[in-house]
Amino acid sequence: MKKSTISIMMICIALLLPGCKKKAATTPELTSGIDLTNLDTTASPKDDFYQYACGGWMKKFPIPDEYSRYGNFDRLAETNLTQLKDVISEMAAKKHKAGTIEQKIGDLYNLGMDSARLEKQGNEPIQEALTKIAQLKSREELTAQLIEMHNNGTAPFFGIFGESDPDNSSMVIAWLSQSGLGIGDRDYYLKAEHKAIREQYINLIDNLLQLANYPTLNPKAANTKVAASNILALETRMAEAFMPKEAMRDPFAMHNIYSIEQLDKTMSALNMSQYLRERDLGDLESINVCQPKYFEALNKMLSQTDLETIKAYLAWNLIRHAAPYLSREFADASFEFYGHQLTGATAQKPRWKRVISTVNGALGEAVGQIYVDHYFSADAKTRMQNLVSDLQVALKERLMGNTWMDDSTKAKAVNKLSSMIVKIGYPDEWRDYSSLEIKDDSYYANIVRAERFESAYQLGKIGKPTDPTEWQMTPQTVNAYYNPSTNEICFPAAILQPPFFNVKADDAVNYGAIGVVIGHEMTHGFDDQGRLYDNIGNLHNWWSEHDGEAFKARTQILVDHFNAIEVAPGLFANGAFTLGENIADNGGLNVSFTALKKAIAEGRVKGEMDGFTPEQRFFLAYAGVWACNIRDAEIVRRTQSDPHSLAKWRVNGTLPHINAFAETYDLKEGDGMYLAPEKRAVIW
Ligand SMILES: [Zn+2]
Repeated sequence: MKKSTISIMMICIALLLPGCKKKAATTPELTSGIDLTNLDTTASPKDDFYQYACGGWMKKFPIPDEYSRYGNFDRLAETNLTQLKDVISEMAAKKHKAGTIEQKIGDLYNLGMDSARLEKQGNEPIQEALTKIAQLKSREELTAQLIEMHNNGTAPFFGIFGESDPDNSSMVIAWLSQSGLGIGDRDYYLKAEHKAIREQYINLIDNLLQLANYPTLNPKAANTKVAASNILALETRMAEAFMPKEAMRDPFAMHNIYSIEQLDKTMSALNMSQYLRERDLGDLESINVCQPKYFEALNKMLSQTDLETIKAYLAWNLIRHAAPYLSREFADASFEFYGHQLTGATAQKPRWKRVISTVNGALGEAVGQIYVDHYFSADAKTRMQNLVSDLQVALKERLMGNTWMDDSTKAKAVNKLSSMIVKIGYPDEWRDYSSLEIKDDSYYANIVRAERFESAYQLGKIGKPTDPTEWQMTPQTVNAYYNPSTNEICFPAAILQPPFFNVKADDAVNYGAIGVVIGHEMTHGFDDQGRLYDNIGNLHNWWSEHDGEAFKARTQILVDHFNAIEVAPGLFANGAFTLGENIADNGGLNVSFTALKKAIAEGRVKGEMDGFTPEQRFFLAYAGVWACNIRDAEIVRRTQSDPHSLAKWRVNGTLPHINAFAETYDLKEGDGMYLAPEKRAVIW
């Protein structure tokens, strides 16, 4: 999982946030934390809370050209990027001893920034790899070709990675997963309304095959338009066989242990024993095949599809992967489709931002160590630890007081909560990058070395004990996660800062922002997927049958509610696909509100400030986290591929189910945000 594009991930990322804590609420200089200019007071909080709480913000911060969606979250990420640029460009301006982290970071940055050299090299950095594909003579050679490409960071047809054994989470096993759709989500291939996107995709492939010189290397692909159409047809067949994203939410469906003999038989079109052996996995006795039906279909496709089409598809995977790191023509064409046509952005990000992100991806924890040294305060960690324990207490109380679970299931749930591992800030041990070389050949050659380094690292975990100290995100990431196989929640350093965690504000807003995010991550341990893992991360159903049914009935209310939300004309939210995140938002709000009430009772937050009660400040802060503008194309793309609801609906779709919200704003039948109590989903 991790940075791999094949990640099926069980990690549910939540989002942003800031940290907080019991700062003496009586300190005179504390503010309310509510920026009145972010509000639109012409809107009614009872009818459209999102517009009321965020309308001013949305007007102040229109989407910059380079963005498809721009929210408070992105503003924080921008600040981080600028901070990283300061440190990295300073490093890049000096000469460092070969092999040091400073040399690696500085040189990779310089290679990416040297646009004159990128222009001069043109398509040259991929010619050797492309020639190998062009010269493939038979299907027998495909296995070796896939090994090479998978090692180098592309994942045509499928991908392999190491992840905890669902039956024994203390060990890492090999997982095999569907992969290799160039447009992304399978709906782009299968739905009639995406015909225009598919035509643009064919144009992109056609254009880049030519720029990459593929027809010269392989005269059989002289007609690149035909080759592009064939590639789309192959990807469409793959898309048809892909397990749909909703079905992939069932961890039991994704758990299919095959012996290597079975795998060989299922994938007879390739030599899987050779594949595993040459990827240093020759000792494997079994493997988890996530989507068995896809692999059966893939086997047929590999034996029946014309070899030239398979070669063109492989060439396309290579070119698509390399394009952002080659000359301007490649990067521009790639942006035109993936940035503009697919997400609506109208300008590419400036080169320095793209390059900093690349350095961040290749040398993540090395950059993270530097980031933490410069920008992370130990105080933020302490405050965050306090807040997390507040939320743990609140969730435990709610679990104990729960009326729909029996005592036995309840006790197991409480035990799971008490066993949850909490990671804050940065890892205790940093990753070792000594075997990654950054050399002065080409930008893309270094990307490939970084990918090979990463593949070896990921596959190297297989067959070994799970490392409980490992982090799935770097400290400079503005995000958070829950990992069910380790039962851990993690809050990287970058999110423990303003504007989300406001040290200078009274804690009511911190409970509404970071507090809800902490509650959100904890709730993932009890969402539709997380609930099927026990306190040590093993996949098994520890629920009584009655309680399992009760959970499904309560959460079905959220599925139905979100299914009925029209996010764009004729396009509805996907309640089943976003269920885990919607449960986590629902739970996060209820749990953090419980913690707020306790803080109010103990006199730890102030009363009315700037005309708002603490309860109102809580909900304003929650909505403020999701203040955001978004382009139409991005609404479509995210609705198809993002398990999180769109920002607007994380507010207007989620809050009607929260009893405390209805009480705070005295909602009545007829108000836009009102939902009758019996129609509300109350889960955790
Ligand atoms: Zn989440």
